[in-house]
Amino acid sequence: MTIQWFPGHMTRAKRQIQDKLKLIDVVLELIDARVPVSSRNPMIDEIVGPKPRLILLNKSDLADPQQNARWLDWFRSFGHEVLAIDANTGTGTKDISARVKLLLKEKIDRQIAKGMNPRPSRALIVGIPNVGKSTLINKLAGRSAAITGDRPGVTKGQQWIRTGADLELLDTPGILWPKFEDPEVGFRLAATGAIKEEILHVDEVACFILRWLAVEYREALAERYGLSELPSELPDIASAAEVLEQIGRKRGCLAGGGHVDYAKAAGVLLRDLRTGKLGRITLEAPVI
Ligand code: GDP
Repeated sequence: MTIQWFPGHMTRAKRQIQDKLKLIDVVLELIDARVPVSSRNPMIDEIVGPKPRLILLNKSDLADPQQNARWLDWFRSFGHEVLAIDANTGTGTKDISARVKLLLKEKIDRQIAKGMNPRPSRALIVGIPNVGKSTLINKLAGRSAAITGDRPGVTKGQQWIRTGADLELLDTPGILWPKFEDPEVGFRLAATGAIKEEILHVDEVACFILRWLAVEYREALAERYGLSELPSELPDIASAAEVLEQIGRKRGCLAGGGHVDYAKAAGVLLRDLRTGKLGRITLEAPVI
């Protein structure tokens, strides 16, 4: 899915989420564990306001496990509740309901103290396109039937999805935009597949990523493409382009006259990256 975000769309997206906030107890903010900052909406704090929020580092199965741990610490250092999950297989998703309970403990305790039977908590999933919102909704919904919205406050066409005894989800997630004014954010999102790569030049995306891989995942890169003389860093785009050329030669990505087809070579690298062929890789590190 590609969404062209214009200021008007952003305002509408923000308003739609803020309307839904009135219906729910907690926000589940989905971000991509491989690019935890680049896959975040720049206005998320303002949009969510004081509503309790659980941050979910999704696609953690594709991200570097050591970096997952560092990112969890990083978010916690700001006082956030955060979990690493894999919405595809469901790893970590069973903990969501218990974490939500902890976040809402005071509210739930107040209800109990008043002699009320606490109702299931209601949640809204928000995140940028392709971060895994639908996958998570389907995983949490499991086989349980959706509950139709004949209750006050539920817009026509929207439904609550029961995900076990304690948690209900709005079936339509909140779609947020990323911070794409920053070119590096754009490169990272294109590399993970969050934005269509044809928006950017695929070889530029590959060169940007190669500069990171050469430092952080040198061995994996050298091994995958049989690069014997990989420099320990690629100080500029030109040196990254040389490595891309080597990859192209190794993989037979040739254009006429024996020249390397850079776009094809970039396609090989990015596909390998996204499908985990280079191992589990995180494309940005927390600044502590
Ligand atoms: P949405 O646009 O936010 O609703 O994203 P989708 O749920 O459509 O997911 C986008 C792509 O990411 C799909 O191909 C999913 O299979 C994949 N995906 C979602 N969650 C995970 C995950 O935790 N791990 C992996 N490996 N892939 C995931």
